[in-house]
Amino acid sequence: MNPRDATSRILQAVDDSGTHYRHSIPMIASENILSPMVRRACDSDLHGRYAEGLPGKRYYQGCDDFDTIEEIGIESARRVFNCNFANIQSTSGTVSNIGALKCLAKPGDTITAVSTADGGHISHARMGAVGVRGLNLVTYPWDEGRMEPDIDASLSLIREKEPNLVLFGQSVFLFPTPIQELADAAHESGSMVMYDGAHVMGLIAGGVFQDPLREGADVMTGSSHKTFPGPQGGFLLSDSDDPKLQKRLNNSIFPGVCSSYHLHHVAGKAIALAEFEEFGTDYARDIVANAKALAEALSSEGFDVMAEDRGFTESHQVLTRHGGPDSGAGMKAANTLEKCGIITNMNMLPGDTKAMSGPSGLRLGVPELTRVGMGAQDMGEIARFFSRALISEEDNASLKSEVSEFKSHFQTVRYCFSEGPAYP
Ligand SMILES: *Cc1c(COP(=O)(O)O)cnc(C)c1O
Repeated sequence: MNPRDATSRILQAVDDSGTHYRHSIPMIASENILSPMVRRACDSDLHGRYAEGLPGKRYYQGCDDFDTIEEIGIESARRVFNCNFANIQSTSGTVSNIGALKCLAKPGDTITAVSTADGGHISHARMGAVGVRGLNLVTYPWDEGRMEPDIDASLSLIREKEPNLVLFGQSVFLFPTPIQELADAAHESGSMVMYDGAHVMGLIAGGVFQDPLREGADVMTGSSHKTFPGPQGGFLLSDSDDPKLQKRLNNSIFPGVCSSYHLHHVAGKAIALAEFEEFGTDYARDIVANAKALAEALSSEGFDVMAEDRGFTESHQVLTRHGGPDSGAGMKAANTLEKCGIITNMNMLPGDTKAMSGPSGLRLGVPELTRVGMGAQDMGEIARFFSRALISEEDNASLKSEVSEFKSHFQTVRYCFSEGPAYP
């Protein structure tokens, strides 16, 4: 393809992607959409600029306006997450984790974390950031019924291994982790405690999930674009008032792991934080209510929804099982749903061993659907679409046009200062 054709082909695909999502029901739990004001910041002159350092202490000239932005953003993050220290520079949740691991551990140290098979993130694994930092990984014993670390066994593990760093948080995250007792045990042996809230930052900030910095976490990392409704990026937070730790945390991002830290996204984050101060409590409450409503509705339609004994979910996620271990039934369901205009991801469930071909489950998320104004009744409508696609196996093409008609009523981003098109 010649370069000019490549350019138009790419721009066409960019527009097509917007059109695709405009007509679909997007249910990827880690995804969200931008408010019009955040979008404006992300598409600004700041995109091409550098501002190494901190507000007022820069290595380059020309940063006065950006200093204003970053200062307001930091203040807002400290209020939103109710903490003494906030760094909003990190370019992703993974980058926040690499920075935090650099600050809190050294090569050869031992870290405890949730295994990827149990819903932990790749950055907590040997193949990811934990391996990059050269840490010795020990994973928590897992309680499959409660879908959280086995607390008694993890307590013994922490007491026995005396890890240097105790890490909590998951990507498959239905319920708050009861970290208090584990954090106390960690602190007794001099370990630091880190909580990775990538998926649940918006729920934590909205006061509807858990409050890790009050429950014993020394440092909290997270993404700014999952349940937290900002642009792609990361947060690094602590309630410590120790200036030495704060300095080391700042240094762990710049110069530690970032040079440019994507100023347009920092400006977007700062606006998303301000909007969260105004709308975040309602937004977070509505997300969890929708996740619960979706789980109930899917269960009533006859689907096997995980963790029924615990009320299915306390987060933005719902997990469903579509067949036995390693059956690949989750992959098959995700493919069928996509043909019907519903975008989901397959997910490994207890017993599954093959990540690419075997997953028997789906992980469903409701943040984006909540942001465009859907409520409990609409979750019932979506569960019926699931049933018609996967149980009664209706014609995919005609379901897809019904899905598109249903979605046409949800085209405006809510919970922000200037509501506007969700898929411009
Ligand atoms: C998504 C996720 C991350 C990584 O975040 P990115 O912003 O995608 O780099 C880190 N930790 C957990 C638990 C996650 O789910």
